[in-house]
Amino acid sequence: MSRTRPIVAIDGPAGAGKSTVARRLADALGYVLVDTGAMYRAVALVAKREGVAWSDGPALGELARGLVAKKALSFERDPGLGVRVKLLRAPPEDGAREDISEAIRMPDIAQGASTVSAHGDVRSVLLELQQLAGRGGGVVLEGRDIGTVVFPDAEVKFFLTASADVRARRRHSELVAKGQTVTFEETLADVKQRDAQDEGRAVAPLKKADGAVLVDSTDLTFEETVAQMLEHVKRVSAT
Ligand code: C5P
Repeated sequence: MSRTRPIVAIDGPAGAGKSTVARRLADALGYVLVDTGAMYRAVALVAKREGVAWSDGPALGELARGLVAKKALSFERDPGLGVRVKLLRAPPEDGAREDISEAIRMPDIAQGASTVSAHGDVRSVLLELQQLAGRGGGVVLEGRDIGTVVFPDAEVKFFLTASADVRARRRHSELVAKGQTVTFEETLADVKQRDAQDEGRAVAPLKKADGAVLVDSTDLTFEETVAQMLEHVKRVSAT
């Protein structure tokens, strides 16, 4: 399938700034934004609420399939948050939706998402959803396996990273700004644990995709990072 507008894939470890950068690129290009981490987080949250263990792959796969079949998760563009996530309330299924955007950003759910996402059953369900959302192009997708598994044929691929220390510092400031009481050491340990889990899993591990441009933002400001990436997208789109 030929696309008139490219697929922009952004992968990288936790706290590298993918969400903020992806949002800015999508805004600047007028593209759709797909936050794939929010999908894994939503599955982890619903599993926790329904008493499904994060270690139970087949049950989680079933749960994810049910959510997709019922169109129970919806993702809306939000100027402040990037993507707002809503969950169809059940039961009674009166069509009302609960905004779970904040709940999925809690540190325990981040950890849960990392555990949940290691299961092939869950990944295959969410993979379909992600491919459906992005296949027409004119889209920025961010996650861990966009350039390697979801869209290996993406026209533009980035691997965005920064040192663990810098990523933890940024994540810690965000959490503190949201009023959460968490120490820097706890955040750093969380970042390192998620890195190990995401890089070490058997299915779709986090790694730089073939042909991806490596962007290390350790010593770059946010604006410099965005400018560098935007320039690359424009260069590729013009060819
Ligand atoms: O990007 P975010 O921190 O929201 O992702 C939460 C977790 O979901 C990650 O730690 C990772 O384990 C998982 N994830 C994934 N593949 C993606 C996106 C996220 O495995 N494409």
